[in-house]
This record gives sequence, structure tokens and C-alpha cells, in this order.
Amino acid sequence: MLIRGQCHCGNIAFALDWKGDPGAIPARACDCTFCVKHGGVWTSHPGSRLSVVVADPGLVSKYVFGTRTATFHVCARCGAVPIVTSEIEGRVYAVVNVNALENVDPSALRRAAASFDGEAPDARLARRARNWIADVRIASAGR
Ligand SMILES: [Zn+2]
Repeated sequence: MLIRGQCHCGNIAFALDWKGDPGAIPARACDCTFCVKHGGVWTSHPGSRLSVVVADPGLVSKYVFGTRTATFHVCARCGAVPIVTSEIEGRVYAVVNVNALENVDPSALRRAAASFDGEAPDARLARRARNWIADVRIASAGR
């Protein structure tokens, strides 16, 4: 299934070639301080492929905090946060925000709370390498 998503204004758009069960998409409501403020709820499937197209890279704010191992791609025009990336041993991994999805029936989302507080940095990166989308392409549509 090809899942499409974007920020509110469309500056950051993505296509996710979902390899998992399309009727059971995990949706993890992260309880970190950033995600609480933004209502961040994330999904990923390790076998999937993510293609991101940014219309205007100048209108993407890349926000990091805490362990500084995850980069939140915030649209500077509309404020939505459609993707998070993490670079692990030279490879870019990503999760996408289920609130940014365009063509997924909300009943397909399997919502659950997620708490990664207190996770050691090494364990955190190992978990992302296992669970996050491992095939990520980010391109600029721009001039
Ligand atoms: Zn936007």
C-alpha cells in the first residue's frame, strides 16, 4: 500500500511504501516533551520505503533537543511536523506522523502510548535501527 502524507501546507510531502498489514498500522503517541506539545503520534515499518519531497527547504526548521539523536522536520510555514529522522552509523532512519497521513482510514491505526524516557542512548539507537523506516530518501523539489 502506498501511504501518502504531508504537512498542512504541502511543503513537506511523503510517500510511504507500506510493507506491513495496511489494516493495522501502529500509531505510537510519544510522551517526550516535544511530542506532548505537538501531539506527535508516529508510525514506521522497518521493511518500508519512504520518499520525502520538500518544496522549499528554506521553510523547514530542523529541531533537535535532549540526546540530539532525532531531528524533527518542522514546516516553518504551517508548523506541522510530518517526519522525524535519526542518523545511525551513516544511515538515515525515519518515522512519520500519523496525523500527516492523507489516505489512511483512521480505523486502521492501532493507537498506543509510547514512553522512551530513561532509555539509554545506545538502546535508543538500537531500537530505532530495528523499528524505524530504514530506506529513506529526502529530495528537494526546488529550483
Ligand atoms: Zn507546511
